[in-house]
Amino acid sequence: MQILYSSTRGAESGVPASKAVLNGLAADGGLYIPEAFPKLGCSLDDLAKMNYRDVAYEVMSLFLTDYTEEELRYCIDHAYDSKFDVPEIAPLKDADGAYFLELFHGKTIAFKDMALSILPYLMTTAARKNNIKNKICILTATSGDTGKAAMAGFADVPGTEIIVFFPKDGVSPVQERQMRTQKGENTHVVAIRGNFDDAQTGVKKIFGNKELAAEMDAKGVQFSSANSINIGRLVPQAAYYVYAYATLVRNGVIKAGDEINVTVPTGNFGNILAAYYAKQIGLPINKLICASNENKVLFDFFQTGAYDKNRPFILTSSPSMDILVSSNLERLIYLISGKDAAKTAGLMKNLSEGGRYEIDEDMKKQLADFYGAFADENEVSATIDRIYKSDKYVLDPHTAVAACVYDKYREETKDTLPTVIASTASPYKFARSVLHAIDADKFDSMTDLEQFDALHEVSGVDVPQAIEEIKSAPIRHNTVANVDEMENVVKEMLGL
Ligand SMILES: *Cc1c(COP(=O)(O)O)cnc(C)c1O
Repeated sequence: MQILYSSTRGAESGVPASKAVLNGLAADGGLYIPEAFPKLGCSLDDLAKMNYRDVAYEVMSLFLTDYTEEELRYCIDHAYDSKFDVPEIAPLKDADGAYFLELFHGKTIAFKDMALSILPYLMTTAARKNNIKNKICILTATSGDTGKAAMAGFADVPGTEIIVFFPKDGVSPVQERQMRTQKGENTHVVAIRGNFDDAQTGVKKIFGNKELAAEMDAKGVQFSSANSINIGRLVPQAAYYVYAYATLVRNGVIKAGDEINVTVPTGNFGNILAAYYAKQIGLPINKLICASNENKVLFDFFQTGAYDKNRPFILTSSPSMDILVSSNLERLIYLISGKDAAKTAGLMKNLSEGGRYEIDEDMKKQLADFYGAFADENEVSATIDRIYKSDKYVLDPHTAVAACVYDKYREETKDTLPTVIASTASPYKFARSVLHAIDADKFDSMTDLEQFDALHEVSGVDVPQAIEEIKSAPIRHNTVANVDEMENVVKEMLGL
């Protein structure tokens, strides 16, 4: 079955996967969505016998139908290799009555590596297939993890340039250092005086600027995106939910066909949407549990049907979820509107103009697959401490948001189905917050370097290569800009 893509706002349809990957965002500002959902081609029992790469192939080949088997296998084999520090790529750890799907064993120790190790391969393959001679410039707004993971993937990839915008003072010290020490002649990093939403809106604006696109095209450059608005991010992410399920079958926790729940610490709604896609292709998922931090705009949305970003932007210990405009929700809105592009475009217009929209009762009814809750900062700390004490298992603050929310779900619903929690970052990436939660008196006064050693002692987990690297790497990127200067910065960096 061939899968083609349409824009959620209606101006484009019949777009092959490789073109959707190249474009990133549709020209009308909408997001590409598959026109129909394929179904898993092999049985869950067969998937249980496969390794990560083969599962990834089974899932990705359903969506990326204009890539040949040879092309797709090449992308997958080069992405999911020894860059990951465990052979399983995404191991499942049993703790606190749940199954933590560790998605942080890649180069930058956050789950963004799962998709961003493969996106450069998908994109350069797509460029070749479509006879694109232009240089591809990846523009990315990051809440902390995407930027580094995207640069790690695209650094020195011929025919590409990458520019990353991160919120100055809005990321963790490790995240900032990881980005500012990034190597690669084609990498650029800009700290924005604003928050993540400002950076993301700025990037979308640059994408939407037709004059700039024409000017760039004349100079042989075109933009694409490495954010989760790119379908090339979502499809590889759907694969690990299938792999997690297959692992539970292999380990005898469930039988093929049994239902599970999935809990996802959510910001831009990309990771949980990938789980929803996994459900659409036939993975037996009961509830998709959407976990928010104190920026609980999604929790309120699931409660009331009103999405309202008019509220204070709170800086939390889970900065990669400090987001008030969850871009990928647009893809869900489109589906629950009955694929009504005009309605979706109208709601998104309300969001960009008034910061708010409200869905009707029919649409609300279709949110039954989801359960939303949030964890405040005290609950996040308490969860890290509790699971460390009970299981000797150390969670990063993002994963702790999910674990706390899952706890609330269990309490409220008494649902005992096996539940996979997406574990989205290594605790090393947020060592200071994690150790503060475990024993503030003992650890707060330590330097960053001392904390890495302390975390090693506390968790028994080896210091990851990504941390070793930033200890000594020189700072290479110092640019700071205001939000209204973003376009000029891009032009300067591209020599336009
Ligand atoms: C990006 C990120 C999230 C949020 O994922 P979304 O796809 O934006 O919802 C959660 N945790 C970590 C560590 C992240 O980097």
